[in-house]
Amino acid sequence: MSEDICQNLKAVQQRIAKACEKAGRDADEITLVAVSKMKPLEDIKTAFGCGQIHFGENRAKELQDKMDAYDEEEVQWHMVGNLQTNKIKYMVERVNWIDSVPKKKTIREIEKRASRIDRVINVLIQVNISGESQKSGCEPEELPKILEYARGKTHVNVRGLMGMATYLDEDEDLEKIRPEFRLLRELKEEHESFNGENIQLEHLSMGMTNDMEVAIEEGSTMVRVGRAIFGERDYS
Ligand SMILES: *Cc1c(COP(=O)(O)O)cnc(C)c1O
Repeated sequence: MSEDICQNLKAVQQRIAKACEKAGRDADEITLVAVSKMKPLEDIKTAFGCGQIHFGENRAKELQDKMDAYDEEEVQWHMVGNLQTNKIKYMVERVNWIDSVPKKKTIREIEKRASRIDRVINVLIQVNISGESQKSGCEPEELPKILEYARGKTHVNVRGLMGMATYLDEDEDLEKIRPEFRLLRELKEEHESFNGENIQLEHLSMGMTNDMEVAIEEGSTMVRVGRAIFGERDYS
């Protein structure tokens, strides 16, 4: 089935606007990151053509290939998935945001590689909010020492926190994951004393196709949406 990507983008923006209205928020506070993983570059170009600026990928190789192939200065590229340290070296040449930084070592490597080419990378610290052991991200208690470590870096700007809620089946109640989003917002508020220099905890990246409304009600400023824009992914 071919997707009308521009139509889908409009529909997602309407969902965002409606959720903001319900929550008494301004839709301008929300950045939409279009997650284009497993989708062809053509789809990214189409979305860019109808005004989409932020794109996210969850695999380093796929992100790298797409960044290399699409030389469009205005595009803001986000790495949103698990990241091996050895992939950072190449990534920093173009990536604008790394949304899934779970530990000090990742910050150290971004700082080292980005400083050599004098770029500054926006990062979000990913926190394990679902409590599931296989989920990535730091534990909430680790956040202070990671922020402490990031403080004063000159090529890493910490812009906020990222989290992924427990994956629910279609028929499950979204209220189940509201506390997870709320936890991330509380963690942001609790750590705002770190703000200054290169740390500004302003963003909360939370909410995807299934759960963006609840995430927005709980304070999300960045939603990462794939399927609602580009259609279902084919894993076969
Ligand atoms: C795939 C992915 C998304 C988007 O998920 P959809 O259900 O397609 O909206 C968001 N964040 C991350 C980290 C992802 O890997």
